[in-house]
Amino acid sequence: MVHNTNATTAPAGALLVRNAAAVMTGRAGNAARAGAADIRIRDGRIAEIGAVLPRHDGEAVLDATGCVVYPGWVNTHHHLFQNLLKAVPSGMNVGLEQWLAAVAYPRLARFTPEIFRTAVRLGMAELLLSGTTTCADHHYLYHHGHGAETGDVLFEVAEELGMRLVLCRGGAIQSASDHPGMRATALVPETLDEMLADIERLKARYHDAAADGLRRVVVAPTTPTFSLPPALLRELAAFGRGMDLRLHSHLSETDNYVKFCREKYQCTPVQFVADHDWLGPDVWFAHLVTVNPEEVRMLAVTNTGMAHCPVSNARLGSGIAPVRAMADAGVPISLGVDGVASNESGSMVHEANFAWLVHRALGGAAQTRVEEVIHWGTAGGAQVLGLPGIGTLAPGQSADLAIYDVSGLRFHGFHDIGTAPVAAGEPTPVRDVLVRGRQVVRDGAVVGLDLEKLRREAREALVGLVD
Ligand SMILES: [Zn+2]
Repeated sequence: MVHNTNATTAPAGALLVRNAAAVMTGRAGNAARAGAADIRIRDGRIAEIGAVLPRHDGEAVLDATGCVVYPGWVNTHHHLFQNLLKAVPSGMNVGLEQWLAAVAYPRLARFTPEIFRTAVRLGMAELLLSGTTTCADHHYLYHHGHGAETGDVLFEVAEELGMRLVLCRGGAIQSASDHPGMRATALVPETLDEMLADIERLKARYHDAAADGLRRVVVAPTTPTFSLPPALLRELAAFGRGMDLRLHSHLSETDNYVKFCREKYQCTPVQFVADHDWLGPDVWFAHLVTVNPEEVRMLAVTNTGMAHCPVSNARLGSGIAPVRAMADAGVPISLGVDGVASNESGSMVHEANFAWLVHRALGGAAQTRVEEVIHWGTAGGAQVLGLPGIGTLAPGQSADLAIYDVSGLRFHGFHDIGTAPVAAGEPTPVRDVLVRGRQVVRDGAVVGLDLEKLRREAREALVGLVD
């Protein structure tokens, strides 16, 4: 096997991925499969996909014999700081509100920029090793006078590891005591001016509006119902749209969330956000577990997207979003792993496998197809993030590739090997990952990551986070 021949010394961006057993394109329906194919890459973009492409002079070869190729997964909802908060005992057997009070909120103030950097490194590396090339991080470690540097840390680590990052700039400006989970903390929320100034700063410094931009900024208060007074919600939407930034938040994660909204605002959560200009093709919400048919219709007609996070929703006992009905109605669907304090895994393969299975368990085998789940986790993510240059494998698209080694024993006997990562789930070893043609995982290791150092940093960081 010729593997990685001259991959680091060839002319920049000239690469031929050869002999893949199957290529899944991320597209829907009959276009989902490109069969056994080669992929030619030029300057970070896919130039050609076809059976047995000739090698051109000076072109490096990445031999994908025994592998299947997917578009890099697009994770549309994550909280990277939580990579140091897996399986906190007090949060293992409780629902969302108690989990927030026990796991997340008491530790928010303990995340120094150094500890945060370690968590982000762990989280991004874990995502890359599941074949995820784009991460939308809903980041909300912002308090009065604190937090700006953590946004920079996210972009710095993304640069270091080569991941595409969408920073969903979260936070709250409302008195912390307004949120039941925050009552026990002494954190002071930032002011609206602090929030807006930081978003403007982040946009000027990092935001890349290109169709395959590596750095994006999104306006993303932690929740639309708790994080700020309703009147300011509309103002914040106008502020974001005035800068051509997308909008994101959590919505309707539990029955209690819906109950709160009905009692406080006398309407459903989707109606509430509709009344405050928070629906549209430039908006996506995480969870949407508890939504009624009218809310699904409103999301569909406005083309408002959703980040489906079934593992976290199951782990917290929140329920499972009616994604079949939402997809059939035309709601853009994507997948997110959510923070790993409520997942214990930051793997998009695990997420896709569970998404494929859980809807069948609930509603029968016609609920999901492997190709459709791949589409949600790749092209669907690209759509809700407004990154049309990623998420599918086709000429002109960014060369974001996840190359899975399916030569191992557990993959013998597959009649349709392209389905293997999603249908077999973890462990499906990632051999190589490319982001815009740059190799960021090579032979199962994150390029440039000192694992021993990271282990040591993680152990040290945990000392300050355990009770
Ligand atoms: Zn979340």
